[in-house]
Amino acid sequence: MKTTPPPLPVVATDGIHIELADGRRLIDGVSSWWTACHGYNHPHIQQALQRQLETMPHVMFGGLAHEPALSLARRLCDILPDGLERVFFSDSGSVSVEIAMKMALQYWLNQGVASRKKFIGFQYAYHGDTIGAMSVCDPDEGMHALFSGLLTEQHIVPLPRTDAEFQAFDGFLKRHAGECAAVIVEPLVQGAGGMKFHSPEALAKIREHTKRYDLLLIVDEIMTGFGRTGTLFASEQAGITPDIVTLSKALTGGAMALAATVATRAIFETFLSDSPGAALMHGPTFMANPLGCAAAHASLDLFESEPRLEQVAIIESHLAAALEPCRSRPGVLDVRVKGAIGVVQLDNLTEIDWFKSRFVEKGVWVRPFGDIVYVMPPFVIGESELTRLTDSIVSVVGEWSARRSES
Ligand SMILES: *Cc1c(COP(=O)(O)O)cnc(C)c1O
Repeated sequence: MKTTPPPLPVVATDGIHIELADGRRLIDGVSSWWTACHGYNHPHIQQALQRQLETMPHVMFGGLAHEPALSLARRLCDILPDGLERVFFSDSGSVSVEIAMKMALQYWLNQGVASRKKFIGFQYAYHGDTIGAMSVCDPDEGMHALFSGLLTEQHIVPLPRTDAEFQAFDGFLKRHAGECAAVIVEPLVQGAGGMKFHSPEALAKIREHTKRYDLLLIVDEIMTGFGRTGTLFASEQAGITPDIVTLSKALTGGAMALAATVATRAIFETFLSDSPGAALMHGPTFMANPLGCAAAHASLDLFESEPRLEQVAIIESHLAAALEPCRSRPGVLDVRVKGAIGVVQLDNLTEIDWFKSRFVEKGVWVRPFGDIVYVMPPFVIGESELTRLTDSIVSVVGEWSARRSES
């Protein structure tokens, strides 16, 4: 913490811009941690929030239910892959993952199966910062060594892509599936673990394997959900219906904190029982916060009324062409693009703070981490602002590459 430069004071947001206290306006290349898919301060979302603020900003969701939550649940089920029919609202992505894990464990317990208590996660995965979620993250990202003894030991395996890797995965499942409740995966793109991609075919095969070994599949769409990979949900590209899906981040268009854990009817029905221990005992205080639900409704309206997926397709082809020149630079390991995600992977990236400040000097908000420089702009970004983002990346990566060659 001592070595990190202090944060920049920010005073306002507007469209795709972040305004700093000293008057500088930065083009946001990361959509505020991948949430602000419609840009900031969208009038449709702001009006919905204002209306909700006047009638009911919040009320408890125990013993009471309200229309914004009920209709949002229906709406989410309508757009998610067929079969996902039951929604549990919470207030952050990590919590929605905790709830998904609890659901998966109790799904087995409620059927009298006490042996399936572990989870299978993947290297480079990221599912959140709470203790349960950390246990299914990549061992480094999830700080498994530092917190050993506290974190539940799960099975973290390489995410299979090739036939040989699937054979190894299959062998692993043969030995260990019987002690596991579920596999958890980020579909198509592992986000905070380094923006690593896998194909829809690989995801579909992971789904087949979970079925073969009677495991539940939890698909964490917190980052990929709501258009980021080119379809409304990444699961669609693999043609799969997960058993449980987690949503947050762009669920409200980035305007409010809200999350959802969505399960199939089959999962839900194992909790419908007269025995007192069978219910899902989870009740976040701000569960189904009406302001959050109102923002989510307004965000879904915008996906219906404005051409978001077409915008993502345009961003995708722009990123692919504009970032390509980075590939030939010494020190660049890979350039990859999926939907509105553009990634330049570098060899031995140690100058992260230098990168960040060079980007701010160029008027863009781009935040490299790990070994990547990446952009995930709001979908409403225009051609010229997108060009400013990609030009900045090409030029700063070029500077970095030249400095590296000199030293
Ligand atoms: C951000 C993220 C989370 C955690 O969400 P929070 O709201 O930060 O708790 C979980 N899974 C994925 C894939 C994410 O990108």
